[in-house]
Amino acid sequence: MKLFMLWDMEGVSGIVSREQVWFWEEGVRPEVAEEGRQLLIADINSAAAAALDAGVDELIVCDTHHGGGNITLDQMLKDPRITYLEGARGLQGGQRRWMPGLDHPVDGFLVPGHHAMAGTAGAFLPHTWMLDWADLRINGQSVGEMGIEACFAGHWGIPVIFAQGDEAACREAAGMFPGIVTACVKRSLNRDTCEGPDPAAARRLTADRAVEAVEALRAGRCRPFAPTLPMVVTITMTSAEKAEAAAQKPGVQRVDECTVECPAERRCDVVKWIVGAGLDMQ
Ligand SMILES: [Zn+2]
Repeated sequence: MKLFMLWDMEGVSGIVSREQVWFWEEGVRPEVAEEGRQLLIADINSAAAAALDAGVDELIVCDTHHGGGNITLDQMLKDPRITYLEGARGLQGGQRRWMPGLDHPVDGFLVPGHHAMAGTAGAFLPHTWMLDWADLRINGQSVGEMGIEACFAGHWGIPVIFAQGDEAACREAAGMFPGIVTACVKRSLNRDTCEGPDPAAARRLTADRAVEAVEALRAGRCRPFAPTLPMVVTITMTSAEKAEAAAQKPGVQRVDECTVECPAERRCDVVKWIVGAGLDMQ
């Protein structure tokens, strides 16, 4: 069994404040940003060990938050079955692409550390890719980053087996991916703050649920996210200027003041037209 774990950071065990995770913002204290990174590393190590104990043969761990670069290789669990990717864009077979290694031999796709989509009420740091996307829809269905990434994995028919994050992110995942196992490790108090079990307890819950996800995959309970092709991907931006700029890209239609849409023939092209992330990247 081969798994691909795509780690975002907002939903990681023990991360409870914006300052721990949006470390590029003005006024962030370096020691608080470092605390966030250490929580990410501890959560990855714990979940990866659990997956291997559950019998996973090969595991790709990908650090995607803010372009990656949040993990430190010498702090990561060392095991020949694990491959670490320090960013979500990289090389496969000499060609630059999104999520290298996510391909036919992968049996299951996991989205730990995630957050709810833009506009979600009662969520910790909800957004979709960038703060100027108010709503992204695939064939009319609003999705967040988990939906976008799962759609990309759907190109190879890879089932989505696990999500971890706050209550809102877990609700979103459970509503979209039948059979998924979720680990809810926090509840938002407001957009920028949340509360939850202490980091060690949250990590234990996450590791236990990751094992359940492996079992669910083995039992055939998980499904790929596979919107009907060809897809229409629509983005409502937060301003007319952003929509105007997006409409300059090839194949993109402006549908109203703040909204653009683009057809996509393949699930792996879900956001390639707008952010360039996909296969055969330049
Ligand atoms: Zn993130």
